[in-house]
Amino acid sequence: MIRLWSVLGNAQKLDGGAMFGNAPRAMWSHWVTPDAGNRVPLACRALLATGINGQRVLFEAGIGAFFEPKLKQRYGVVEDEHVLLASLGKAGFAHEDIDAVVLSHLHFDHAGGLLAAWAPGKPRQLLFPNARFIVGRECWARALNPHPRDRASFIPELPGLLEASRRLEIVDGEFSTTLGPEVRFEYSHGHTPGLLLATVGGDGGVVFCADLIPGRPWVHLPVTMGYDRYPELLVDEKRRFLDDKLARGVRLFYTHDAECAMTAVTRDDKARYGVTQEVADFAGLTLGA
Ligand SMILES: [Zn+2]
Repeated sequence: MIRLWSVLGNAQKLDGGAMFGNAPRAMWSHWVTPDAGNRVPLACRALLATGINGQRVLFEAGIGAFFEPKLKQRYGVVEDEHVLLASLGKAGFAHEDIDAVVLSHLHFDHAGGLLAAWAPGKPRQLLFPNARFIVGRECWARALNPHPRDRASFIPELPGLLEASRRLEIVDGEFSTTLGPEVRFEYSHGHTPGLLLATVGGDGGVVFCADLIPGRPWVHLPVTMGYDRYPELLVDEKRRFLDDKLARGVRLFYTHDAECAMTAVTRDDKARYGVTQEVADFAGLTLGA
């Protein structure tokens, strides 16, 4: 039996314009209210699943608390403490209990939570000492060799730490050795090369949408992020992805939506996509029940 928890990591405040690509402010400010500095609140939400191949699996780790104070401020990280660890604790788990961590890509707002909180003079330290780390082949290559446009989104020390752990599994197919048939992977390239999208529990399950659809506003087909490398490709991928999830009854899990963890998807007679059955958060949800 698979059970699921939505687990909050450190929150962020980022420039609204950058988050909504070419959508005008007059439009996106209806979806998320910006502060005086035009910044919008964003979550870094992880998905915890138990009972996958007998294991406890964490889908992503959020931004965490690894930034030194100056960078923490630049990237709008809200809290000082490592919120993900506290949230896991609330769900009844410690990071040592996690058997596998699935990373959609290695941008710091998805992988930074793998690291211990920053402390003056302390080297970066990898948490989750018993977990296998599952990363897509193209995302791994990108982290080792970033493009100038997204170089600042990576943590230079992270690939070395993951490799040194000897618990890294690189995947490039539909399934991973560690997780078996209950987690199916697909890939998208509009945000970053080989973004890993994981569906838990097959038809009627839940998909971790990562940065293909970071929250409810991005379910609207034309809405993309300024951080996407190929927005038009992303829109085409999103259409196929949403049609597939609709057909299979798979719910969408959002990492960056500050107020909503999960929804179902709808499509009207003009082929416009929307959301229904919004769930703010959940704990111990049984899949299929
Ligand atoms: Zn990203």
